[in-house]
Amino acid sequence: MGGSGSGNRWRYGTRSTCEASLRIDVRYMRKQSLLRTGFQGTLSWSRHGEQTGWIRYKVHPNSLELDYRTRQVGEVEWTPVNEHVPLLRREQPFGGSRVYLGCLRCGSRNMVLYGGSRFRCRRCLNLAYASQSEDIFGRAASRSREIRMRLGGEGCFDDPFPPKPKGMHWSTYERLENECARLDDLVTAELCGLMARFGGAARG
Ligand SMILES: [Zn+2]
Repeated sequence: MGGSGSGNRWRYGTRSTCEASLRIDVRYMRKQSLLRTGFQGTLSWSRHGEQTGWIRYKVHPNSLELDYRTRQVGEVEWTPVNEHVPLLRREQPFGGSRVYLGCLRCGSRNMVLYGGSRFRCRRCLNLAYASQSEDIFGRAASRSREIRMRLGGEGCFDDPFPPKPKGMHWSTYERLENECARLDDLVTAELCGLMARFGGAARG
């Protein structure tokens, strides 16, 4: 690994290698000005040029309304889903505010929600799929979380990697950062594989 330059930090930007996965990224939506109250539209995802899912959404003052159909593997019928995902705003110490998506299952704040059969936070999806994906996945996810917390972060996979705490050696920090990148890649790959089997919203 290079020195303390930006080399390995880029890995965090490109880490989400599964563009095909059904995800709602609040940063992306905000950047594209899709989060204005009253705004409505569709979000769609594709893989190898083929559409893998789409949903309708509408922005309310305090929630993001999602409208889609879902079907689990083995099921024939599509189940219509209409959910209001809470939009949680948090004031920033130096002005402005950040918007988070509330998870309807556990109530956590998130930058990104992932579509399994429903759109939930990464941790809830981990739990939902734990019986299928087993130990390696779960252990990698919790170890990654542990490292982030140790560095003073909130443990959230989607947040930027925490900066080096005062008093910690660079070599220790870089070892943890590399370990975390490896774990996150593992978790992402696993999660993408699982989601590919589930699919999300209906086509047309
Ligand atoms: Zn959750």
